[in-house]
Amino acid sequence: MTHPDEALALIARQEVDLLPEDPDEVPLHGALGRVLARDLYARVDQPPFDKSAMDGFAWGGKPADFLRIVRTLPAGTVTDRPLAPGECARIMTGAPLPPGADRVQRVEWTEEADGRVRFTKAESADNVIRRGENQKAGDLLLGRRLLRPADIGILASSGYDRVPVQRKPVVGILSTGDELRTSGEPLEPGTIYDSNGPQLAAQAAAAGCEVLFYGRFPDLPEPLEAAVRTALSECDLVLLSGGVSMGDFDYVPEVLARCGVEKIFHNLAMKPGKPTFLGRRENVFVLGLPGNPVSTFVNFEILGKAVLARLRGLPPDVPAVRARLAAGISRRDAERVEFLPARYSGGEIRVLRYSGSSMLSVLSGANALIRLEIGQKSREPGEDIDARLL
Ligand code: AMP
Ligand code: MG
Repeated sequence: MTHPDEALALIARQEVDLLPEDPDEVPLHGALGRVLARDLYARVDQPPFDKSAMDGFAWGGKPADFLRIVRTLPAGTVTDRPLAPGECARIMTGAPLPPGADRVQRVEWTEEADGRVRFTKAESADNVIRRGENQKAGDLLLGRRLLRPADIGILASSGYDRVPVQRKPVVGILSTGDELRTSGEPLEPGTIYDSNGPQLAAQAAAAGCEVLFYGRFPDLPEPLEAAVRTALSECDLVLLSGGVSMGDFDYVPEVLARCGVEKIFHNLAMKPGKPTFLGRRENVFVLGLPGNPVSTFVNFEILGKAVLARLRGLPPDVPAVRARLAAGISRRDAERVEFLPARYSGGEIRVLRYSGSSMLSVLSGANALIRLEIGQKSREPGEDIDARLL
């Protein structure tokens, strides 16, 4: 059995052709969740001029009892007329400083009378944001990364209206199992609805992928093989749910081998997810996930996302928190690394009670996964532990 950390290291070490840049740049408003294809540089100084950080009075020179207010400077206007000694300009936040001024007195700390202003309290800062203080034109603005809302703001602030992005990873999904029916169909005795297909499609879409759902397949090698061959020719990552264990009808590993998929690992010291398979054919990865819905979810979260990060050329992004255990955890069998659905809130974390990896409903209340190491049978209430946020 491969340790999950070794599995992640194997994924990180894969030699791959990174996903190529899309031939067309995308408009900025469509770039959220896309991966920036290459480094972008600042097009303008940020801010582009010395600007006031306050509503107040711009002035310079020696302090005086009163300053004469000679003009008003709203944001968005410039003036060439310098301030003379004893003069100041009423200035709004964001307006460029006029010549002759090098600081701003906030309006709250002033008194005005007869066109003059008196300062009632001394400022400890100049309240000016200097040209290029945040960023200079030509500085690296953003490197390759998954674009988040703040990145969109940064790109806009530098005048980018279109951005070069990587092609989205194409993720193919196949659900295997004779017992599966599609939601909307009637359930005959012994059948269940395919929840992994829609769930994996949603997980992949949420991870910024383009999703191709190939459907559900009976536990027979031939139809599965044909679909896997198609998926291998159309996708960057193929996800199969079910059929990777030791059952009599678990054909997935055999079918993948026939399709030329080479194994990277099969069987992990991980719970849920012991029978998980990862392989590749050329630049296409195939993740065979155990059919139990919690396993499928957790394994995509941990391993599927790691493969996507590799294809994108990004470091795996694992949002984590350290939190206090609200209640103790114990388990009888500690032979595998275990991931437990948990609820994190206000610095505390609590494992959600669940009876096994078929219990999908537990996930709707989970916002984190707690990890127990091999050999670790219990954790005490009040202990600080690391958790992975979902
Ligand atoms: P398997 O990995 O094929 O042995 O399946 C393990 C368990 O997960 C069985 O109880 C299956 O019925 C169930 N299962 C398999 N595939 C799915 C699916 N697509 N949706 C929901 N449950 C599934
Ligand atoms: Mg099955």
